[in-house]
Amino acid sequence: MNALFDTHAHLDQLTNVEAALDGARKVGVTGVVAVGTDMVSNEKTLRIAERWPGFVHPAFGLHPSHLGNYDGVCIASELKFIQDNLMAACAVGEVGLDYHKRTLAQVSKETQQKVFSEVLALAAAAQRPVLVHSRYAWADALNLVRESGVANAVFHWFTGFSSVLRGIMDAGYYISATPATEYHEEHRRVVRSVRLEQLLLETDAPVWYGRTEKYQSYPADVLRSLRAVAELRAENEDKVARITTRAARCVLGCTMSQTLEEVS
Ligand SMILES: [Zn+2]
Repeated sequence: MNALFDTHAHLDQLTNVEAALDGARKVGVTGVVAVGTDMVSNEKTLRIAERWPGFVHPAFGLHPSHLGNYDGVCIASELKFIQDNLMAACAVGEVGLDYHKRTLAQVSKETQQKVFSEVLALAAAAQRPVLVHSRYAWADALNLVRESGVANAVFHWFTGFSSVLRGIMDAGYYISATPATEYHEEHRRVVRSVRLEQLLLETDAPVWYGRTEKYQSYPADVLRSLRAVAELRAENEDKVARITTRAARCVLGCTMSQTLEEVS
């Protein structure tokens, strides 16, 4: 059984976290990054990580699609929670930009960019990597990340242009592959052309996947991401597992051990 790492799961949105983590362990998952999307979700994520230390690694964030509900005061207190708890986190995320028309109807590009820049500055100051959501905002997201001086970045479930992908690779950042690698053409193009050493696996659980038959995902489905990546790239599954898990531990694990040192 290969050692796997789910680098992006919304454990706070699952009804039975314990069963989901047991299921993940059974297929070889050795770690999960639990990402938060706002203060309620960040607090819940922190509690979950405290219950499974060394296995669930928390990341605290502020998802761009939530910003429409907030005024400046709310945003400031959301950012303060992230800042105050960064030492317990392996990364900052989920954060980023979302230019989908439904999100833009709620919150402007300018507001999203301002908040993203502020949260990137927090991550840079604490030397934490960022887990980036960049739907239809690929170039702007990469530019802001590059300007911020963050330690590292993962462009999660990336489906953007080849030119932006080149920029991500040249900067030494990462992209992560979801189970949509089985069928989503833009994501497949990215996963096929990325450097294997800069690729991570994830589920974005509890997202629903599937083109014809839909299923709700759990961290155990990172095995589907692995199999889809290996098949698409015509590589051995063991090799893909070894390299992606090593990369996950390098990007996120470095700060994990640092976190332990800081705590002790
Ligand atoms: Zn997500």
